[in-house]
Amino acid sequence: MRTDAQIARGTRLEPISAIAQSLGIEADEYEPYGRDKAKLSLGLLDRLSGRPDGRLVLVTAINPTPAGEGKTTTNVGLSMALNRIGRRAVTTLREPSMGPCFGLKGGAAGGGRAQVLPMEDINLHFTGDMHAIGAAHNLLAAIVDNSIHQGNPLDIDPQRVVLRRVVDVNDRALRNVVVGLGRRVDGVPRQSGYDITVASEIMAVLCLASGFDDLKARLGRIIPAYTRDGEPVTVDRLGVTGALALLLKDAVKPNLVQTTENTPAIIHGGPFANIAHGCNSVLALRMGLKLADYTITEAGFGADLGAEKFLDIVCPSAGLVPDAIVLVATVRALEFNGGVQGAALDAEDLGALDAGMVNLEQHLDNLAKFGVPVVVAVNEFPTDTAAELDLVRERCAELGVRAVGSTVFADGGAGGVELARAVVELCEQPGEFTPIYDAESSLRGKIETVAREIYRADGVTFSSMAQRQLERLSAQGFDELPVCLAKTQYSFSDDPGLLGAPRGFTITVRELSVRAGAGFVVGLTGDVLTMPGLPSRPAALDMDIDADGRITGLS
Ligand code: ADP
Ligand code: MG
Repeated sequence: MRTDAQIARGTRLEPISAIAQSLGIEADEYEPYGRDKAKLSLGLLDRLSGRPDGRLVLVTAINPTPAGEGKTTTNVGLSMALNRIGRRAVTTLREPSMGPCFGLKGGAAGGGRAQVLPMEDINLHFTGDMHAIGAAHNLLAAIVDNSIHQGNPLDIDPQRVVLRRVVDVNDRALRNVVVGLGRRVDGVPRQSGYDITVASEIMAVLCLASGFDDLKARLGRIIPAYTRDGEPVTVDRLGVTGALALLLKDAVKPNLVQTTENTPAIIHGGPFANIAHGCNSVLALRMGLKLADYTITEAGFGADLGAEKFLDIVCPSAGLVPDAIVLVATVRALEFNGGVQGAALDAEDLGALDAGMVNLEQHLDNLAKFGVPVVVAVNEFPTDTAAELDLVRERCAELGVRAVGSTVFADGGAGGVELARAVVELCEQPGEFTPIYDAESSLRGKIETVAREIYRADGVTFSSMAQRQLERLSAQGFDELPVCLAKTQYSFSDDPGLLGAPRGFTITVRELSVRAGAGFVVGLTGDVLTMPGLPSRPAALDMDIDADGRITGLS
């Protein structure tokens, strides 16, 4: 089997103008960034505002193994397969964060024969969006510190500057820093730290904005600090909403690229899937829905996190209704949930597979509560046996859901045709989409609903700090916002060791904070890292590029 990089290199890319034309995008509605990338102008949405929306399909997954389950691969492969059967389909994806590429994860542009290209650009600097977001974020941080230094006219409490700085590198040494050291002119010393760029609220804002005016309104509402009296200090009060928007003037435009089968892909925005909502931008979705018959998107982590946030945060805020959900499962992840680990995942183990089915079953029950029709896509690995694949199909039939094998990693779009047909059928089924909680219920009520209905916790324990924060957020008028719970991706519970479908546990919410610009309240359970570290052997050690620009180690 060829490596991802070899497959990518062996693919002949169409000029981006041809991809734009295939979607009916007019010449003045895109700006080429080189030969095979382009920025899409927001004016496109005005021109097409009268056109009905196509179908919206969400790809999500069961609780994964540490290697990932193939949501992106399935998403890209499904979009190619839909094109093969004569439907105009576009994949929309998150922009990968550069930091993790050099750590453990490698790239995030799909895999095998289901990739988006040029993968080396997409995984690295791409069209510069990540850098623009980092620049806007760090400008805001500098403005806050400068305001404190220059006589502090807004009475900002140096101990209550909640905005940290960001950089797109996994750098654990920057998690905690002291800024303002030195002489008097060097600023006011205070403890702070760095997050990875995708954790910036500005990333979440960019991804939830419905247009440029909404982007500015959301930027203006961000609260980087509080006064000594505990009053929020917004970006609007700091007076830099315009400057931040200026830095984002190009980043706000979705990026057009293509798949390994020259079908269209829109890649835009990439918020963290724990302390943020983990989905590509709403603008990318809106463009897909106007330009194509089918828009395939994806939400980070398992369905307990990503899909829940897509369905409870993104869809209600953007006024979107998903038509179908593809739940990706792998034999490996089912066996992992059934108690197998490491190299043993490569061997046939029908007992563990059967035991792990409870995880899939709970995700199906959960998704049914949202009223969107679901199909299970079994992402087939070379190590899967026929007996294992049969067992998954059999068990799914018993659960009343269709399970379709997908070999898009090995075969490209041809390996996803059955899945594509199933998705087309599913989209014709009537759905009755409803989020899991009402916007009107309290923050506490929303958190308890997600914990009981999705995680199946017996209840929620709020730390004393979280309780005080709940009261304060309520008093400040933030009760109507949706909640974004940060939790381990490996378990339905907040303990990564509890696999399968755990029962008899409670969820502990340690801390809450408002993202007033993004428009949600983050609840932290367990330890959540907003600045990842590098592993003992970073992927960076295996990367290289030669004088002809041939890249190795990035996949
Ligand atoms: P996710 O989006 O769920 O994190 P990805 O699609 O990025 O998952 O896949 C995770 C990793 O697994 C990638 O390196 C990808 O190339 C690889 N992968 C995905 N599907 C398969 C498959 N069927 N066979 C072999 N490797 C796969
Ligand atoms: Mg992915």
